[in-house]
Amino acid sequence: TPGIRPLVAGNWKMNGTSASLAELRSIGNGFMSGLDAETEAVVCVPATLLQRAAEILSRTPVRAGGEDCHAKESGAFTGEISAEMLKDAGASHVIVGHSERRELFGEDDATVHAKASAAWRAGLVAIICIGETRAERETGATLDILSRQLEGSIPTSATAANTIIAYEPVWAIGTGLTPTAADVAEAHAHIRHKLTELLGDAAAKMRILYGGSVKPSNAVELLGVDNVDGALVGGASLKAADFLAIAEAY
Ligand code: PEP
Repeated sequence: TPGIRPLVAGNWKMNGTSASLAELRSIGNGFMSGLDAETEAVVCVPATLLQRAAEILSRTPVRAGGEDCHAKESGAFTGEISAEMLKDAGASHVIVGHSERRELFGEDDATVHAKASAAWRAGLVAIICIGETRAERETGATLDILSRQLEGSIPTSATAANTIIAYEPVWAIGTGLTPTAADVAEAHAHIRHKLTELLGDAAAKMRILYGGSVKPSNAVELLGVDNVDGALVGGASLKAADFLAIAEAY
């Protein structure tokens, strides 16, 4: 979208140990060598790696992010991690409402809404994920689902500076399947339209990422679609060469 700097975001999910930090070093070095100064990058890693990831990336243009956060700042929530803790560990961004959180951990729109507010409270950029399931696509409900998720998940104080939307068709995540360019264009145009309805002017410059089986081989086509302002990359973000190749697609 004109006037929007694209962002390529990685999501390592529950993958990565100390040994994986070498890939992160390579990603940082790739961006350092001026690979693509036009593209912004963040890699969201497991909380156990966050502090070291932030340190490794601190001398590069690439930022480190969290994959989820609790809505509260602190307290008796054994095993949980707050947005403030992620910020303290060096995060700049946090993913909220990833479909795996929604599906496997029972998060609804209200939970995602609260987590987005928590991210801003801590000074993090929220990457808010939405997307339809296969059944929803097959019954033609996709655009209605996206509208409902946007209405429910995005606090009205969202701005282009504190929020990034990631459109991730659930059936495309980790499956190797991707929507057609026309389907991506339709979904992203709809999201832009709905964001304008909900947020007014803030919507014009808000980044809308596409996510779901993005690879070096399909990145040029998917990222070239109107209203696609970057990518959220799962599997392919674990390999520096793939992540850098996707970033180069712009
Ligand atoms: C994701 O988990 O956000 C994702 C898009 O995964 P993948 O790229 O592996 O489909």
